[in-house]
Amino acid sequence: MASTGILSNLGNKKANGVKMPALFIGHGSPMNAIANNTFTQTLNGLGKKLPRPSAIIVISAHWMTHGTYLTSMAKPKTIHDFGGFPQALFDVQYPAPGNVELAKSIQSEIRQTKLGLDDQEWGLDHGTWSVLKHLYPEAQIPVIQLSLDMSQPMEYHFKLGQELAHLRERGVLIIGSGNIVHNLRRISWEEKAKPFEWSLEFDEWMKKKLVNKDFNSLQKEFLNTEAARLSVPTLDHYLPLLYIIGAAGDKEEVKFEYEEIQNASISMRSFSFG
Ligand code: ZN
Repeated sequence: MASTGILSNLGNKKANGVKMPALFIGHGSPMNAIANNTFTQTLNGLGKKLPRPSAIIVISAHWMTHGTYLTSMAKPKTIHDFGGFPQALFDVQYPAPGNVELAKSIQSEIRQTKLGLDDQEWGLDHGTWSVLKHLYPEAQIPVIQLSLDMSQPMEYHFKLGQELAHLRERGVLIIGSGNIVHNLRRISWEEKAKPFEWSLEFDEWMKKKLVNKDFNSLQKEFLNTEAARLSVPTLDHYLPLLYIIGAAGDKEEVKFEYEEIQNASISMRSFSFG
């Protein structure tokens, strides 16, 4: 893969003044990867509408580590990090290239923490490819993943998002892939399952906080209600959102790209800044 070409491409994007949005996608069930529904159609439309990124960095709920890592590999493998789903889902490949030069460049630019480079262990997990498969089906844009250091406080993730923000001006699309409401214990597989009251309540609270850009509450007061504690039983699917609000500019308004509660307890709310 011509990684030097990709780097010069980044320079071109900057010269052309293309600034990519910061995007949060609620990915939901892995089955969305092979589904054709309003959510996947929205992603497909979004991929066509956005300026074409020179590279993509994804903060996925499914890569949890001690320390923060970047994938730094020419050909990241497609990881099927789930069980109990049909073979068709295990057959999915997303053969996008990586970008080792860009990973090294990001590592050298980040000040608040030392990022580790992972050149063989991880790859692209389903938090990444189930989304990108619909956004960019041709899998030609280089993709890097950034891991979630689960030992760090909320502010760490937010500030790291702030430090990544400048990449947007270099044509890099930053995607946080998680879910605002994500309770697998309460999940319903019934078709058109009715959302729980608490899932609607918390999803609506989050919507208001995003519109008002109350990023302090989104870091410090998001677990204050019973609805919140049911919606966010673990932090993994919530944390990617903090990177996206961190990467949002001061004057940018939130734009909701999609909203739906799937499976009664999963919010597919997806939004962008910029
Ligand atoms: Zn997930």
